[in-house]
Amino acid sequence: MAEFSLALSDEQQQIKDWVHDFAADVVRPAAHEWDEREEFPRPIVEQAAQIGLYSFDFFSQSMLGDPTGLTFPVALEELFWGDAGIGLSIFGSGLGAAGIAANGTPEQVLEWVPQCFGTADDVRLAAFCVSEPDAGSDVSSLKTKAVYDEAKDEWVLNGTKAWATNGGIADLHVVTATVDPALGSRGQATFVIPRGIEGIAQGQKYKKHGIRASHTAEVVLSDCRIPGAFLLGGREKLEAKLAKAREGERTGEKQPAMATFEATRPAVGAMAVGIARAAYEEALRYATERHAFGKAIIQNQAIAFMLADMITEIDAARLLVWRAAWLARNGGYTNAEGSMSKLKAGRVAVWVTERAIQIHGGYGYTREYPVERMHRDAKIYDIFEGTEQIQQLVIARAISGLRIE
Ligand SMILES: Cc1cc2nc3c(=O)[nH]c(=O)nc-3n(C[C@H](O)[C@H](O)[C@H](O)COP(=O)(O)OP(=O)(O)OC[C@H]3O[C@@H](n4cnc5c(N)ncnc54)[C@H](O)[C@@H]3O)c2cc1C
Repeated sequence: MAEFSLALSDEQQQIKDWVHDFAADVVRPAAHEWDEREEFPRPIVEQAAQIGLYSFDFFSQSMLGDPTGLTFPVALEELFWGDAGIGLSIFGSGLGAAGIAANGTPEQVLEWVPQCFGTADDVRLAAFCVSEPDAGSDVSSLKTKAVYDEAKDEWVLNGTKAWATNGGIADLHVVTATVDPALGSRGQATFVIPRGIEGIAQGQKYKKHGIRASHTAEVVLSDCRIPGAFLLGGREKLEAKLAKAREGERTGEKQPAMATFEATRPAVGAMAVGIARAAYEEALRYATERHAFGKAIIQNQAIAFMLADMITEIDAARLLVWRAAWLARNGGYTNAEGSMSKLKAGRVAVWVTERAIQIHGGYGYTREYPVERMHRDAKIYDIFEGTEQIQQLVIARAISGLRIE
């Protein structure tokens, strides 16, 4: 078990500085343009690939190879400090990779996870498609169906996935579907669909409130046939799980989608902390430079105390994120600490970015200052990867041991 320490190792500090430099030099200057264009910032993702930030190596070393669990959230905070829309464009493939890591056999993980990123000169993208138009929080009611064609050893998928980050532009879609709808989440399985397979297409691309550089779209599956080997975890394991579930026994298995979300929650919290810190820094600078009534506005307690509360909340959120990230690698959660970290960080990001606009006055309400964009970006952290209420539900169930509805 790694020791929990708030002091980063030399290596972690180097990674933090390296990501920060990229965020400051490349990401932040491009943020406004790509937010306005509402387009996937491929040139920036390619630049991230050139320096090795967008790569299988960085993903696996920082996320899986670090016994403290802190390297990944530290890196994400810096990247999202630069910009959340571009940050998610760089991190989005990590969701697909995490979906494979959580559900695949070791051989499948080795085969497919590198393909989520490609190489520095041939960048590839991945998407993780769970949500549907009628099933977001309620992942047990997915309608997308996967039927096994025994004669051909193929799976046939049909349905519509909603809200997929990188959906339709990805080279590899990781899709959760129901094999037996009567079994709810215990009747689901996750599949990989690489580019070149017929029957998968992008549906509508959503026009969003924030993180507008990140591509979010529907993915439509129409008689999409994939080889049997593209079922993550393998057929034997799935059949055993289904048989147990049919007998009415508890399988002890996590829901496929839930297993991924649990692992990624502190990471998502770290992104929100990055946005909040960026907005706080903008507000602190502005409050020092802006004068009203003959003095800098920070010399009013009303403004200074707001900033004091903002930094206190940001630090509290980061501590929860670090604790959850450490626990995830060292013995696991006991009271849904991953959900706590994501719940707190999302709320803090929304609140801090709103206060940052307040401190900027009228200018903060315009697109001339980045806090307006940061506030729009922050809101998604109350919604995706489990809404605010779903995090509360997970925590409430963990502390009570009861079925809270
Ligand atoms: C920009 C963006 C990117 C996304 N990326 C992905 C992605 O890459 N892959 C993917 O699979 N999904 C993705 N999503 C989907 C996202 O995870 C869902 O939107 C989210 O889980 C909420 O589901 P929903 O929108 O259906 O809302 P609903 O589940 O319909 O919730 C609506 C409201 O009801 C509340 N609610 C629901 N159930 C309960 C309950 N039991 N108790 C109390 N309150 C409840 C919710 O908290 C919310 O306030 C993305 C969404 C967005 C907006």
